[in-house]
Amino acid sequence: MKHKQPLIIAFDTSCDDTSVAILEGRKVLSSVVSSQVEIHAQWGGVVPDIARREHEKNIPMVYEEALKKAKIKIEDVDYVAATYGPGLAIDLEVGLAFAKELAIKYNKPFVPVNHMEGHMFSGLSLNTKGNGLVPGDMSEVEKLFPALGLLISGKHTELVLVEKIGSYKKLGETLDDAVGEAFDKVGRMLNFGYPGGPVVCEFAKKGVSGNIKFTIPMKNSGDMNFSYSGLKTAALYKTKELREAGKQDKEWVYDFCRGFLDTVIDSLNLKLKMALERNHSVKTLFVGGGVFNSEEIVRKIGNIARSYGLNYIYSEQEYRGDNAGMIGVSAYFNILNGKYISNVDEIRKVDRDPRLSL
Ligand code: ZN
Repeated sequence: MKHKQPLIIAFDTSCDDTSVAILEGRKVLSSVVSSQVEIHAQWGGVVPDIARREHEKNIPMVYEEALKKAKIKIEDVDYVAATYGPGLAIDLEVGLAFAKELAIKYNKPFVPVNHMEGHMFSGLSLNTKGNGLVPGDMSEVEKLFPALGLLISGKHTELVLVEKIGSYKKLGETLDDAVGEAFDKVGRMLNFGYPGGPVVCEFAKKGVSGNIKFTIPMKNSGDMNFSYSGLKTAALYKTKELREAGKQDKEWVYDFCRGFLDTVIDSLNLKLKMALERNHSVKTLFVGGGVFNSEEIVRKIGNIARSYGLNYIYSEQEYRGDNAGMIGVSAYFNILNGKYISNVDEIRKVDRDPRLSL
């Protein structure tokens, strides 16, 4: 079978998910994710050493399954792509080494991908249906810029100005905890287990806004940076205060989650508005990262985008957490921009970069 668009195989092992995807251009043909969440749950968070061992064990199977699901043979693939950063060093290494070996063995060009660029453009996969705005044609995609990217996950909280694909300026980032991290830590205070963040968002649905309030962090900082460490500490004191007053958790936990979620959303909206007020040429808001698994966060951030008349682009839920599908989409843009490596010695030299920035 002849394919019009390049066939790409993409790998991501930046944290605790082992993921391989096959794409035809921006269309994800298969995306297999082997989650380790149950293994790490007993430790209350991701243990890099255990994650590496699991990646090494799982990657050959995940690779075979991705090919099988897409009905593609490795010989027919045109490019091999992998995340090289940011992420946990020893975990990044597993997927990167596997992908490089594959590229060399089958004589395919290699595409190194920035994980955060993957999150940002996950909504540009042709599998996205929800937001009704996924231009099939690249000339249409180009009209989306300049844009703003809001990336929130367990490790990252970033606001990025995107002049065009490949050209980024970081406007703000967290000075301490990432949003997802703060959610999980609050989940732990409430004995929700790991990861507790999704439970906080779920419980918030039953709470009443305003019954338990927190101060919006960095409200008057005058810049576009974020901070969630202070909010986390305020949440801890609040739980102590309520428990010491003899109140049962079930009496206040829904309102507590509501108050926490409201405050996080307010803090994101505040910085987003600031970025939009200072960058009038922006036409589109891209959002990505695991925290967007919360439909409420997607909707409320979307309200801001709409009030500024922006295109609002986010992916289907299955591509919001870590996955190799988004890495393939980003690889496709890199390929169009000539950012791939054909020389075997150069491929060997590609090194992981745990602190890689956009
Ligand atoms: Zn991620």
